[in-house]
Amino acid sequence: MRIEEMTAEDWKDVVGNDPVIILPWGATEAHASHLPLSSDTLQPQYIADRIAESLDNVLVAPAVPYGNHSSTKNMPGTISLTFDNLRALAVNILEEFIRQGAKRFVVISGHAGSAHLTALSEACKTVVQRNDAKIMFFTDYDIAERHPGCADLEGDGHAGMLETSRVMAIRPDLVREDRPVGRYVSQGYMIVRDASICFPVGMAGDTARASAEFGQEVNGYIVDAVIEMIENDL
Ligand SMILES: [Zn+2]
Repeated sequence: MRIEEMTAEDWKDVVGNDPVIILPWGATEAHASHLPLSSDTLQPQYIADRIAESLDNVLVAPAVPYGNHSSTKNMPGTISLTFDNLRALAVNILEEFIRQGAKRFVVISGHAGSAHLTALSEACKTVVQRNDAKIMFFTDYDIAERHPGCADLEGDGHAGMLETSRVMAIRPDLVREDRPVGRYVSQGYMIVRDASICFPVGMAGDTARASAEFGQEVNGYIVDAVIEMIENDL
């Protein structure tokens, strides 16, 4: 169940059962010409909702729709939090849930930028170190890439075949007709002023092969994997 749809009384009733709280962490980020700015929010939200339907005692916290971005920061529509603000926001939200009685968390990040993931994992560490809480943190992108169908997706990345397929399975109405082909262009060790030059087409991969069927299969694979992780580790 989504916490945003519960009443205060509902929350009071369930928090005593030591529920697992899934916090979908999204982004508002340019995703080339064909995917919505909310792509990185839609994906972890979908995974969280399906897990909450399958497992008892799992609640879905309101998704956070902002992250930290570097290579897409200057593209139209990307709204980037600073590293420090992102880390502080994550600590604040998790500690508020703890103050309200929750102790077990799964934070799923739809965006997989390295600074973004570092800010969130640092936040999770801080919260675990100063509270009686358990937190599991990962990006669903990492699990998706382990799907056997991704084995030959060399060079697929941001807004690529895998991500396009997943969004097509979740919100086909938001995916435009374009099927761009692009690649990540490394700048080596250079620190560049505008990292969008790493994505000349705004994405990486060949989306001509994307399909809702493949996306559905990968989404199901992630749901199953995370259910197992929750049952084993949390
Ligand atoms: Zn994305």
